[in-house]
Amino acid sequence: MDTLKKRNIDRGDQTCVLCGDCDETVEHLFTSCSLSSMVWSIISSWCKIPVIWAFSVKDLLESHEFSGLNGKKKEIVQGIIIFGCWSIWKARNDFRFNDKPVKLEDIIRDIKSYGFFWFNARVKDNKIKWKDWCSFVNM
Ligand SMILES: [Zn+2]
Repeated sequence: MDTLKKRNIDRGDQTCVLCGDCDETVEHLFTSCSLSSMVWSIISSWCKIPVIWAFSVKDLLESHEFSGLNGKKKEIVQGIIIFGCWSIWKARNDFRFNDKPVKLEDIIRDIKSYGFFWFNARVKDNKIKWKDWCSFVNM
């Protein structure tokens, strides 16, 4: 919405649909929005990593480097963060274009379920079971 405004394209209300508190910018939507912050907090807890604090999208996309993980788990966290961005964007668009209410639990469900399918589609062997994926152990 911020980018459209800068190009003199009026799309009406520019308030973030996730929190209703600030103008919608890329940085706000993915990093400082209260709902996005809750997403990253839940993801951090799920992945058993320090809480993800990002001041920019660049910080967010590099946060797996500071997760304290390495190898496959670090790669998985990177993918989960990308799915997190996609799920937040999807929730935003579902509200903007389909009037679908934004629910934190739907965003988390999408991240976990699509992330599970994504990961298992990438590996030939050692597929992860849903139970292990949900507890983020034995990976
Ligand atoms: Zn917001």
